[in-house]
Amino acid sequence: MQIKNDIVIEKAKSIGFDLVGFAKADKLVEEVNRLNEWLKLGYQGEMNYMERNIDKRKDVSLILEDAKSVISLATNYYTDHQYIEDENSGKVSRYAWGKDYHLLIWEMLEELETELKKIEPEFKSKSYVDTGPVMDKAWAVKAGLGWLGKHTNVINKEIGSWIFIANIITNYEFNYSETVPDYCGDCTACIDACPTDAIVKEYVVDSNKCISYLTIENKGEIDPQFNGKFENWVFGCDICQDVCPWNIKFLQPTMIDDFNPKDGNKEISLSKISNLNEKEFKERFAESPILRIKLKGLKRNAEFLAK
Ligand code: SF4
Ligand code: SF4
Repeated sequence: MQIKNDIVIEKAKSIGFDLVGFAKADKLVEEVNRLNEWLKLGYQGEMNYMERNIDKRKDVSLILEDAKSVISLATNYYTDHQYIEDENSGKVSRYAWGKDYHLLIWEMLEELETELKKIEPEFKSKSYVDTGPVMDKAWAVKAGLGWLGKHTNVINKEIGSWIFIANIITNYEFNYSETVPDYCGDCTACIDACPTDAIVKEYVVDSNKCISYLTIENKGEIDPQFNGKFENWVFGCDICQDVCPWNIKFLQPTMIDDFNPKDGNKEISLSKISNLNEKEFKERFAESPILRIKLKGLKRNAEFLAK
C-alpha cells in the first residue's frame, strides 16, 4: 500500500483542490432513507434522475466492485466580485460566473487519479463531480469536509459553502477523517431569507419552489405564483448562501482564475437576453454552465423577470 492520506492530500492540493477528506465506503443507509422520504414528497420536481440508481447511491461497491473508500474533495470558487444591482439585469448564481466547473474539476480529477496510479498501478478509482449516482454531499460530510447546513449545502468552517464537491471512489483504504459537528445552531438566516419559502423545514428544500431549480432544471414555464419573488435571479439563486454567517465571516478568494466572471456573466441585461440569437448565445456561453439551459431557458427566465 504505497498511497497514504498525506500523499493524496499533497497531490490534491498541488492540483488546486482546497479540501480533502477520507470516508470508509460504508452503505449510506440513513442518507438514502432521507432521500427516499424527500422523493416520496415529490420535492425533486422534474429531476427524475434522482429516483434512479438508488441502490448505487446507497452502495458504491455497485459502482466500483472492490470499493473501500471515498476520497472527498472540494474546490473553493468564491471570487471577490459583487453584483451591480440593476432591475434591468438578471443575476447569475456565483458558481456560473466563470468557466463551467465540470470542465475544470474533471481535468483536476483526471490529473490526480493519474498521479496516484503512477505511484500505485493497483489503485482503482471512479470519480464524480455533481453527476452520476453518487451522493456527493453525503460523502463530503462523511469525509469531514464540513456539515450539511439547513439550506442543504455543505459548509466548511474555514471557507464556507462556496465550494464544488468531487468524489473519488477507490479500492484503497485510508485513515478515515473525523466528521464535523453541525454549527448551524439556532441560526435560521437562510430559511428566513428565502423569497419563495423553498426551505420547507430545516435541512429540507422543496425544489419545486427553489429559484435555482425553477431557472435551471425546470423545463416548463415558471408558475405565476412566483411572480415578483425572484429578486432578479435569471440563472440560479444564491440568497440562502449569501446570508449564511459562515460565508460572511470567512470569505477567501479562490486560487483558480477561471472562476472569475467571464464576459460579464455576473449579471446580464434582460433586453440583451431577449435579443440574443442562437449563434450569439452559443458563442457567449460556450464554456459556461449557462449553456446547459439553452437559449430557450435563458429567454424564459428573462421574460419571467420582466413580468
Ligand atoms: S437557492 Fe434561493 S430559492 Fe432556493 S432555497 Fe436558497 S434562497 Fe431559496
Ligand atoms: S444561514 Fe444559518 S441555518 Fe442556514 S446554513 Fe447558514 S448557519 Fe446554517
